[in-house]
Amino acid sequence: MGERVLFEQDGHKFVLLEGFGHGEMVPTNQVLIYDGSEGMLLDPGGHKVHYDLMDAISALMPINQLKYLFYSHQDPDIVAAINAWLMLTEADALISNLWLRFVPHFGVDELMISRLKGIPDEGMRFQLGSSELIFVPGHFLHSCGNFQVYDVKSKILFSGDLGASIGPDYVEVTDFDAHVQYMEGFHRRYMPSGHANRQWAAMVRELDIEMIVPQHGAIFTTPELCTRFIDWVDGLPGAAESMAEVYRIPA
Ligand code: FE
Repeated sequence: MGERVLFEQDGHKFVLLEGFGHGEMVPTNQVLIYDGSEGMLLDPGGHKVHYDLMDAISALMPINQLKYLFYSHQDPDIVAAINAWLMLTEADALISNLWLRFVPHFGVDELMISRLKGIPDEGMRFQLGSSELIFVPGHFLHSCGNFQVYDVKSKILFSGDLGASIGPDYVEVTDFDAHVQYMEGFHRRYMPSGHANRQWAAMVRELDIEMIVPQHGAIFTTPELCTRFIDWVDGLPGAAESMAEVYRIPA
């Protein structure tokens, strides 16, 4: 469990917080982007990572400077602890418009509801301190209302579930071909649409990307590895198309 500063320049920081989960929980990565005196926490995670993560963030910055909580989509490993985060910080929570009325089922206190803010389908540019973030549409990868975050200053893309790997014992990918085995099972089942995969690849090729950080598993730390990953997604078949045979009434 620890922090890894992936970028730091002129008061702008991109910090990977990894290894906070344990037991049966799928391991998650959290990310803190910090600029000047404003912080945004990406995919804050569930109840069991909440307290340790809060401590780790408090060591990096005054917790009242945590202004935003970004939720790529609605899954429990991302959103479950949202009420605690809203209670213990002054941050606004940002999530796709599609999930605004579902997230309160995680137990969001009525007094906190006004701090839940929706992101429109087309995504948006967002000011954090003196720097710009882009909420990039990642719909159907895998959630139908899903966003990624491109940090313009560090050129790092936080890709949410896309790029997730389950089981590698390293934090940084070095050999792409050897790494594919850890991504394959998850992507072939959780990413429904080959069309969405291809559209995404075409879109992110327009960005200048130095690193890709997924919400689970190892990260891609060079432009070459990022290109290999984008090419791989480009050719990835969608689960809904390749699993047509599961639509049978169980015997
Ligand atoms: Fe998910």
